[in-house]
Amino acid sequence: MHPDDARNYLIRQACEAGFAHVRLVTVRQTPRIAAYDAWLSAGHQADMHWMVRGRDDRAEPARRVPGVQTALVIAVDHAHRRPSDPGGLTGMVARYAWGRDYHNVVGKRLRKLVKRLRGQGIGAWGGVDTAAILERAWAEASGLGFVGKNTLLIRPGTTSWSVLGVVFVDMVATADQPIERDHCGRCTRCLVACPTQAFPSPWTLDARRCIAYWTIESRDLPPRRLRAGFGRWVFGCDVCQEVCPHNHTPPDPVEDAFAPRNAWLDLPELLETPDDALIQRFTGTPLRRPGAVGLKRNAAIVLGNIGRTEAIEPLQRYGLTHSSPVVRASAVWALWRLGVPPGSPDPDPLVRSEQEAAR
Ligand code: SF4
Ligand code: SF4
Repeated sequence: MHPDDARNYLIRQACEAGFAHVRLVTVRQTPRIAAYDAWLSAGHQADMHWMVRGRDDRAEPARRVPGVQTALVIAVDHAHRRPSDPGGLTGMVARYAWGRDYHNVVGKRLRKLVKRLRGQGIGAWGGVDTAAILERAWAEASGLGFVGKNTLLIRPGTTSWSVLGVVFVDMVATADQPIERDHCGRCTRCLVACPTQAFPSPWTLDARRCIAYWTIESRDLPPRRLRAGFGRWVFGCDVCQEVCPHNHTPPDPVEDAFAPRNAWLDLPELLETPDDALIQRFTGTPLRRPGAVGLKRNAAIVLGNIGRTEAIEPLQRYGLTHSSPVVRASAVWALWRLGVPPGSPDPDPLVRSEQEAAR
């Protein structure tokens, strides 16, 4: 097939699978792989060991599709407008997690696309960000957008509020061109606004300092020096996207699957709900990922940050009595922030003993 015809064919297949934003890039050397290696060498991935394990698969898409020629990069917008602040003892959730789990929503479409292509004898494999793919780098190389200093893929004229996916195929097709201009310019808003100073330099994110890492991926107690910076973020963090001038106009329309059902969470309710019921409530959403212990840990820390005395009773009743030492230690810290008991000493020795007991 002529590369122009192959291009039209692939884009048509992607559109029929439900993808409105599609770009193509010729697969040669994996873009930004040297930067990825440097990032791993610096330990910026924290305890996300799968990022090290999957390094070679990220670097060599031919491991998945022998003879790979082209990558289709897709973007699905997810950002609805944030519902107004209900106030009280509530915590904020990162935008991507307000509705259904994008791994399911987008992954299902990607599987459909891959199945169709394979049915036509085309070698194909794809995935979203949980697969071993440098999806932002491929997206940038395809001209879908540019990687901002906040390390996210920004589509000029749209936003960075999108989910990315990549499908590798063994078909030669006419590719798109990358965006040449740096659209960040002299702006540093994201770097300055990060509540936990997680950017050691532009375009580099240290997960060890990032709220999203600690509230979603980690199973441990976050370092004491970072906890106050969590503010009201009970799951993830959007600060470095919210301040970006490219994100001031949410795209429209956005799919109902991502409608804001869980934009704000009632924190005492998170603590009070039995673990099993909490997991059941959030199954099918990204909020399932930290597990009940992670959500309760986050809820306790945010209650400490909000600083209202109504939080004392649920922290004592459900936080201090929880079976997990991580939840108990978080509750101890939150109560200390709230001045309970009055004049109590710095709780970190107790927190440490709780952690040691957990090992
Ligand atoms: S997600 Fe939040 S904590 Fe992480 S880098 Fe962005 S602003 Fe900083
Ligand atoms: S806030 Fe400014 S520096 Fe950061 S990604 Fe957006 S445009 Fe770039």
